[in-house]
Amino acid sequence: MTDAATEVAANLADVRAKVAAAAAEAERDPAEVTLIAVGKVQPVERVEAALAAGQRVFGENRVQEAQGKWPALRERYPDVELHLIGPLQTNKVKDAVVLFDAIQTVDRPKLAAELAREMAKQGRRLDCYIQINTGEEDQKAGVLPADADAFIDSCRQEHGLPIVGLMCIPPVADDPALHFAMLREIAKRHGLSGLSMGMSGDYETAVQLGATHVRVGTAIFGARDYG
Ligand SMILES: *Cc1c(COP(=O)(O)O)cnc(C)c1O
Repeated sequence: MTDAATEVAANLADVRAKVAAAAAEAERDPAEVTLIAVGKVQPVERVEAALAAGQRVFGENRVQEAQGKWPALRERYPDVELHLIGPLQTNKVKDAVVLFDAIQTVDRPKLAAELAREMAKQGRRLDCYIQINTGEEDQKAGVLPADADAFIDSCRQEHGLPIVGLMCIPPVADDPALHFAMLREIAKRHGLSGLSMGMSGDYETAVQLGATHVRVGTAIFGARDYG
């Protein structure tokens, strides 16, 4: 193995162990928590190292980048499960429905309608999560907490989308626990079991607060090089 591959395998083992420990501490079954490895911007060699180490659930935040990387990898690893965790433009919905197994960023009526239409057309039902902008940040995607109830209802009733849960990205400067607790409350009101919350810096807190999916990039693959 190359140094990078050894490092990724070791990091993965470490993150998995910490997820299990956090679950145990909260008296949860670790099997209830799915680790999503976020491979965006990473050299494909590192993603392959994670695959070789047995990781099968991955997150990408751009449709185009995922299209360049995953079709070939999927031929070798057909059991991969791919989640879109970044904003989705309506003109990319068709490609996203072809490629992904789950969309975590449903956040506006036009997108909900387009996803419903495209899934029906392709005969595919992807797990859908609604992104909540729990910190009410202007620059961040997601539905505002005050609009969440109506939007969740309309996604399910009007559009018939298979909504399985909620997703959030807390503001960097805040205590993430408050945001995770808010997300859990909204999900509970709607009987939604999926909670996608927690990243490299706070996934253990998220697991303690009920996350069913944690999205971890840097702690597995190392820092992203945007240069
Ligand atoms: C990049 C990204 C992650 C992973 O972030 P890390 O801090 O590197 O773990 C998680 N969720 C979303 C939505 C992201 O865009």
